Amino acid sequence: MALAPMAYLKEYCLTQFTDLNLDKALLKALAEKGYATPTPIQAQAIPGVMAGRDLLGVAQTGTGKTAAFALPILHRLAADRKAAPRRGCRVLVLAPTRELATQIGDSFKTYGKHLGFSTAVIFGGVKYGAQIKALAAGIDVLVATPGRLLDHIQEKMAVLSQTEIFVLDEADQMLDLGFLVPIRKIVGHLPKQRQNLFFSATMPAEIGKLAGDLLHDPLKVSVAPQGTTVERVNQQVLYVETSRKRALLCELFDQPDFTRVLVFTRTKRGADRVAKSLEQIGVEAASIHGDKSQGQRERALASFKAGQVRALVATDIAARGIDIDSVTHVIQYELPNVPESYVHRIGRTARAGAKGSAVAFCADDERKLLRDIEKVTRQVIPTFDRRNDRALGAATAAMPEPLGVRPERAPNAGRSGQPKSGNRGNRSRSGGGGGGQAKSGGQRGAAFKGPKRTGDSAPARTGVWSNR
Ligand code: AMP
Repeated sequence: MALAPMAYLKEYCLTQFTDLNLDKALLKALAEKGYATPTPIQAQAIPGVMAGRDLLGVAQTGTGKTAAFALPILHRLAADRKAAPRRGCRVLVLAPTRELATQIGDSFKTYGKHLGFSTAVIFGGVKYGAQIKALAAGIDVLVATPGRLLDHIQEKMAVLSQTEIFVLDEADQMLDLGFLVPIRKIVGHLPKQRQNLFFSATMPAEIGKLAGDLLHDPLKVSVAPQGTTVERVNQQVLYVETSRKRALLCELFDQPDFTRVLVFTRTKRGADRVAKSLEQIGVEAASIHGDKSQGQRERALASFKAGQVRALVATDIAARGIDIDSVTHVIQYELPNVPESYVHRIGRTARAGAKGSAVAFCADDERKLLRDIEKVTRQVIPTFDRRNDRALGAATAAMPEPLGVRPERAPNAGRSGQPKSGNRGNRSRSGGGGGGQAKSGGQRGAAFKGPKRTGDSAPARTGVWSNR
């Protein structure tokens, strides 16, 4: 029987990793990982990078971009084995956050497991000693965040003069975090003769200029044109009153297919509050943001990855570059101030060919943000109006007050906005008014309504995630 066109393409025409002339040790590691078919960015980038060309990759996380550079880099190292320079590295990868740096380091280790190269990951917020020791011996592949690496360079503990390949990952995020100056300083320490690989999800003017300065006749690969949204993500916007978002969130978690859900809030406090609300109704949840210690963030991520918690509540910066397979749903509890963040957020689901769903809550005062998002992503997102919804009103009235967090109040709201202590710790969310424990809808509304917080709403440019 003749194959349908798509099946035909899949069956006969797609490149396989085995077609790319990669080192056998890499093919073995890929086979062990169960990867046979390169993603589009890998198919387009790997041959050119293997041949030594510079690369400009316009791609976001989830496209397989890490392997698109890690595989040909490892191939090149294997084809030209030599000792790593003392206090230096053969390959330098710069990444904006410690999470992303760690993931990239892990990818190099996974793909290079049969090659025996050394890999180290360097970021701020931890002691210098072990990093200095690792650098002293020389490292084949060094993955670093810019601030801490610059510290080591200034202390003459890191010398980059013999680096052969330089990768800049998530360049647009680097810009957001205020890392452009450190990056230019680091580049000043690299030798002129080198291979450069440059990745960015979007290409704002400053990033375009940086790419122009760094790259020589680059191979250009774009897997998601600027501003367009991941097509595989089923997106919807729910209009809802701010005061009823909590009830709406709980309603979503009643659906059994919401198994591994990433919830985005704009603020750190908001992330804690939402995680606590979920725990109150019996949904295992963890939050991750810049005020959490490294250990707390790692534990939260690990338990989410292991499926021990159903919900991970995150701020944009904390979630950057997080690579978690099989996120079933992304919920945007609040729309982001920056439209591009919407794209980054929904890109956390539907990774590596999987399908995914993204639901965004939009209160009346967020409509402008929604318009901006639709403009930037050049799409109209299906909307559903859940305002004045009776069920949500009743659910809101029946909900326990959030644990251990002060309710937001309008500046002039009276003390009636305070939670009643009797409601604290109530994990019941059965219908029928929660056993009469709830306040009247009006009072409850006062407790959760109020103007949106602005104090800590903008992602810190270098603040809590400082990599120094
Ligand atoms: P990245 O865009 O590099 O963050 O990769 C996204 C996810 O896709 C990661 O979990 C990778 O392990 C996975 N991945 C990368 N390449 C492939 C491939 N060729 N086939 C299947 N999964 C892949």
